[in-house]
Amino acid sequence: MAATMPPTPANNNGPKVQIVEKVGEDKSYNYSFTYEKATLYEFKFNRAPVPDPIDPCFRCNRRVQPKDQLLVTDVLFHKQCFRCRICGLPLTQQTFHRNTDNGSSDKEVYCRTHIGKNIGQIQRGEVPAMGAEGPSVDGKNTLYR
Ligand SMILES: [Zn+2]
Ligand SMILES: [Zn+2]
Repeated sequence: MAATMPPTPANNNGPKVQIVEKVGEDKSYNYSFTYEKATLYEFKFNRAPVPDPIDPCFRCNRRVQPKDQLLVTDVLFHKQCFRCRICGLPLTQQTFHRNTDNGSSDKEVYCRTHIGKNIGQIQRGEVPAMGAEGPSVDGKNTLYR
């Protein structure tokens, strides 16, 4: 996943999804997911190059203060980072999924639509950018960062 992928417009008629990944020279990692339907939905995160020595968040590598901690089967997240890796859908302890195919030890979390899927499949339109459970979009939402 180190490559920088160019933004890929979906087909001309349907809603557009644009996913951009960028790895900084310092190994920081930027991800943005933009989904345009009637309105725009945007999900972004930036992963620090190295995990904080104290209570790093699995998603963003930044320290999690005790009041923001969410511990899910031994993996620590910021509450606001506990979202689908691909589309940014907010997850709960009841709704998250992990990819356990082929003995995978992937600790990332996904929504029901994107479990076992990869970013390339979304960009090529093989998998919906948003599942039926996707967030209702209302105006331009930058979820965090
Ligand atoms: Zn985080
Ligand atoms: Zn998702």
